[in-house]
Amino acid sequence: MKELLQKRILVTGGAGFLGSHLCEHLLRKGEEVLCVDNFYTGTKRNIAHLLDEPYFELLRHDITFPLYVEVDEIYNLACPASPVHYQNDPVQTTKVNVHGSINMLGLAKRLRAKILQASTSEVYGDPTIHPQPETYWGNVNCIGPRSCYDEGKRCAETLFFDYHRQYKIRIKVARIFNTYGPRMHPNDGRVISNFILQALRNEPITVYGDGLQTRSFCYVDDMIEGLIRLMDSPDEITGPINLGNPEEISILELAEKIIELTGSRSKILFKSPPVDDPKHRQPLIDLAKEKLGWIPKTPLTEGLKKTIQYFEELLRRGYSH
Ligand code: NAD
Ligand code: UDP
Ligand code: UDP
Repeated sequence: MKELLQKRILVTGGAGFLGSHLCEHLLRKGEEVLCVDNFYTGTKRNIAHLLDEPYFELLRHDITFPLYVEVDEIYNLACPASPVHYQNDPVQTTKVNVHGSINMLGLAKRLRAKILQASTSEVYGDPTIHPQPETYWGNVNCIGPRSCYDEGKRCAETLFFDYHRQYKIRIKVARIFNTYGPRMHPNDGRVISNFILQALRNEPITVYGDGLQTRSFCYVDDMIEGLIRLMDSPDEITGPINLGNPEEISILELAEKIIELTGSRSKILFKSPPVDDPKHRQPLIDLAKEKLGWIPKTPLTEGLKKTIQYFEELLRRGYSH
């Protein structure tokens, strides 16, 4: 009986940071989950605890190649997300966003399945409007080191909307803003994982530039709740829809907060800023509030404490550089 009500859900990038939390939440909801990942930035460790679940299945596959499976819904998360990882093989980053999206949209078309795209606030580039509403078209460099990701994700959005208009595919496009929490990759160079590890090791905290650039950080559980609500929303809600926590903080303040929460002896070390580093980023989430009844619930301090606990445990278990 249970099987009759269960949906079969494909999560691409399911062994990554967000994907592994999503698989977990969907299983908890009683769904059947097919996790597809090529382990480019994700790891088996993230989903090892799910492998014995009867309704969880893992498939090693690169979505830039066609995939023939049978599912009801697709969450398309496969793509390296941190600047260090996506710039490591920029051509592959564009391929996963363009070829990968075409394959997953082709799959959705054959199955008449609903498909959600994990897009990003990076489609706004270095925004000239603050905070960013979904109606803003963005300020993106198309030939810089971040372009493989920014333009790749923008082209993916184009493909989603063209498949929607041309083939009536049911689409959902989420523009995800900076998200953090347990299972972030310790080596991906993102600001929260870097600062926490540096603080726990009493090493210098590397602030790039003057530290006055801002970001708005959303705790992972809130983000997953938003993604599932978007997938479950009525068909006319296609997005793009911003998902993120509007609580904005400068990178310098973030460094100080993490030093305080960890009781660290670390000092701040200023380093040169990365090319095309966006100066400000804060989501306007009125649309998500109105259409999905969603607002993030976890304050930054509470989420950081949970994330710090995760990295403390990782270090206790002997993780080194
Ligand atoms: P992540 O790097 O932890 O996860 C990405 C997963 O995709 C990894 O498991 C990786 O192995 C897999 N993958 C990469 N290329 C693949 C391919 N060709 N075929 C199959 N699997 C492949 O990153 P994340 O933070 O979990 O991000 C997940 C998604 O959310 C990404 O699409 C990212 O662009 C988007 N996003 C994340 C954030 C954030 O702050 N975490 C912000 C905006 C958007
Ligand atoms: N595709 C896939 N799985 C499917 C159906 C299609 O991976 O179940 C891929 C296939 O490689 C194809 C792409 O999705 O090239 C786009 O499919 P679409 O039907 O839009 O295009 P076409 O097959 O006409 O090129
Ligand atoms: N950043 C920093 N020190 C670090 C890592 C990142 O000052 O060790 C800064 C980075 O320059 C950017 C912000 O923190 O301004 C967020 O960087 P992240 O790579 O986490 O995400 P994104 O730039 O994609 O928002």
